Amino acid sequence: MIASVLPTYSRAPLTFVKGEGSWLVEADGRRFLDLGAGIAVNALGHAHPALVKALTDQAGALWHTSNLYHIPAQQKLADLLVEHTFADTCFFTNSGTEACELAVKMVRKYFYDKGQPDRTEIITFSGSFHGRSSAGIAAAGSEKMTKGFGPLLPGFTHLEFGDHDALTAAASDKIAAIMVEPVQGEGGIRPLPDQCLKGLRDLCDEHGILLILDEVQCGVGRTGKLFAHEWAGIAPDIMMVAKGIGGGFPLGAVLATEDAASGMTAGTHGSTYGGNPLGCAVGCAVLEEIADDAFLAEVNRKAGLLRQKLEGLVAAHPDVFEAVRGSGLMLGLKCKATNTDIVNAGYTHGVITVPAADNVIRLLPALNITDDDIAKAVDLLDQTATVVAGHG
Ligand SMILES: *Cc1c(COP(=O)(O)O)cnc(C)c1O
Repeated sequence: MIASVLPTYSRAPLTFVKGEGSWLVEADGRRFLDLGAGIAVNALGHAHPALVKALTDQAGALWHTSNLYHIPAQQKLADLLVEHTFADTCFFTNSGTEACELAVKMVRKYFYDKGQPDRTEIITFSGSFHGRSSAGIAAAGSEKMTKGFGPLLPGFTHLEFGDHDALTAAASDKIAAIMVEPVQGEGGIRPLPDQCLKGLRDLCDEHGILLILDEVQCGVGRTGKLFAHEWAGIAPDIMMVAKGIGGGFPLGAVLATEDAASGMTAGTHGSTYGGNPLGCAVGCAVLEEIADDAFLAEVNRKAGLLRQKLEGLVAAHPDVFEAVRGSGLMLGLKCKATNTDIVNAGYTHGVITVPAADNVIRLLPALNITDDDIAKAVDLLDQTATVVAGHG
């Protein structure tokens, strides 16, 4: 008999009932150090007082009105994002994959309005992840996500990640956009080097191609800049945001330049819940904490500390781990042992990590994790690796 919850996930045997900072409490009382943060969502940890206050204050005042009316929290969040980024305008969604849907629509409408209605092709890369909607799975294109779900949304050209020659050959005045994650998350914490991101920007400029960055996982302070592309000193035309921006409340956004967004006039797009008062109140509180030079400097300092300790961990367990990679507090341990075995062994030692493709485990802690918890985390991973090595 089918489970009452549609069984699309194979879940770990863990049921968390409470969260405090970087710690999760299981129903049986065990405490777990959370290095997954709900897959880079709980950017400020669990139950951050400023976020709890923003949510409960808004909940006591007004939950929902619809986008038929002005929404003060939405206006405030849009103003904050415009102030702190390349963007001139924002549309709010409830998830990353909805941001992908709008990014694709925005690109198509842009070229349609420019008198190039056939210019619809979007280049994407192997190992990418853009969510589970029809556009998201067609964009990523991997068999794992698309098999059985055809016919797929047309309009995507899939290239091998890192194949410069293929990219240069494919880029032309017929391509509408290039969509890429500055750091691949699901694909195994694979950062795009800064010079490649710069090269992509140049290639787009040369051919009039729009650059869409998917910063759903790597954005909102995760890499130590507010958005990861800032490290390369470039700006996209369109950017997808979600996960960390809501700090745990479902919230996403598409940010765009005035030019890229020029086709999206009244009536061309909408969402019942997108930009609702609750989500935007929390989003404002998240940004007020993270879009701050002192906060981001701390993220970079902590990232350096964690990375240094992880290098030691890898050196101490050469049969279990191969290398550390990633950017800021978006780190991956490339494994020699099977990544899911390490993640599962971590559960018995009270540490939560997240597997990714390419036999990697992801470490995506809260951006405000304490130095003590960083030391504790590496200690727990060390115990975990010792046990995994013993079994190997
Ligand atoms: C998680 C993720 C998405 C999809 O976001 P959802 O909120 O699950 O729809 C899209 N792109 C990237 C890079 C992601 O990590």
